[in-house]
Amino acid sequence: MTQEGHNSIEVRPRVLIIDDSKDVHRLVAVRLRAEGLEFVNAYSGEEGLEMATALSPAAILLDLEMPRMHGLTVLKDLKAAAATQDIPVLVVSGNQMAQDKVKAFELGAVDYVTKPFEMTELRIRLRQALKMRQLIQMLAQRAQVDGLTGLWNRAFFNQRWKEEVDRSARHGHSLSVAMVDIDHFKSINDTYGHAAGDAALQGTARILQQSCRTHDLVCRYGGEEFVIVMPDTCPQDAAIVCDRMRLAIAAEDWPRHPDRKVTASIGICGCTGAANKPADTIVETADANLYRAKHNGRNQIVWTDVSGTPAGLAA
Ligand code: GH3
Ligand code: MG
Ligand code: MG
Ligand code: MG
Repeated sequence: MTQEGHNSIEVRPRVLIIDDSKDVHRLVAVRLRAEGLEFVNAYSGEEGLEMATALSPAAILLDLEMPRMHGLTVLKDLKAAAATQDIPVLVVSGNQMAQDKVKAFELGAVDYVTKPFEMTELRIRLRQALKMRQLIQMLAQRAQVDGLTGLWNRAFFNQRWKEEVDRSARHGHSLSVAMVDIDHFKSINDTYGHAAGDAALQGTARILQQSCRTHDLVCRYGGEEFVIVMPDTCPQDAAIVCDRMRLAIAAEDWPRHPDRKVTASIGICGCTGAANKPADTIVETADANLYRAKHNGRNQIVWTDVSGTPAGLAA
């Protein structure tokens, strides 16, 4: 995965211990030192909820018997909030009663360990919970990545684009989107074969990825079309970045067809300052600009600033 952010797997997973007994915190930290985990301590349910939200730990060890806020209430709150609902919670309790176990599992606990605990058992169960979370994260990430190019896929774009438009509208940051379509791509497939077409898609994806900035999100929209989300970027600046991409694609040498260059047309749309148009409208305008670029002769960019600043054409 070459892209930033999202679900990167921690080197040293953070585990939050919510327990009113200081001895438990000390004991776990000492006995599980070799696990390579970072333990953070909360001594009450209220504090635990706050820390869980602020630190998004990889797992939570949760005591049940605590003054004021009972562990099961904490668990219910953790599972009710979007920020904490996916964190695996292992209930650690002196209470052996079957009905408490059942209740904890019903509320979404992944495991239930009884105190005084066998350290080996706690270690194994904690490892298990962390491993499971890692697998789930990997699967979730894979479902958002395009298999051929390694770029984000369209589902990921759809979700992130809406979030970025909301963010721009709320905070007033500029925002742009670029639709990239390879020119006469069908003729590459037809002339050099489907494998050469695939290689051209992979090469184009790599060039787009390399010539954009760290915060830009390059996605495969489908077929030979790509879409790039450019946060904090006005369309005029997006046009500069995209023209650099266009030139880099046109300059590339292709081992499978040394005498056939690849070019792309790019349609850009965005807002200088807060997004003042619906998410769909901005993408539709970028798409319309892409078709203008095609119509005008391909291998060029066309951009529009829908916040009111004048638009431009560039070859
Ligand atoms: P234009 O300049 O107007 O965009 O022409 P074009 O040939 O690029 O566009 P058109 O939409 O006619 O053809 C797109 C082609 O892309 C057709 C389809 O078979 C091919 N294609 C779509 N997905 C893949 C893929 O994953 N691998 C390969 N090799 N080809 C693909
Ligand atoms: Mg207690
Ligand atoms: Mg196309
Ligand atoms: Mg095309």
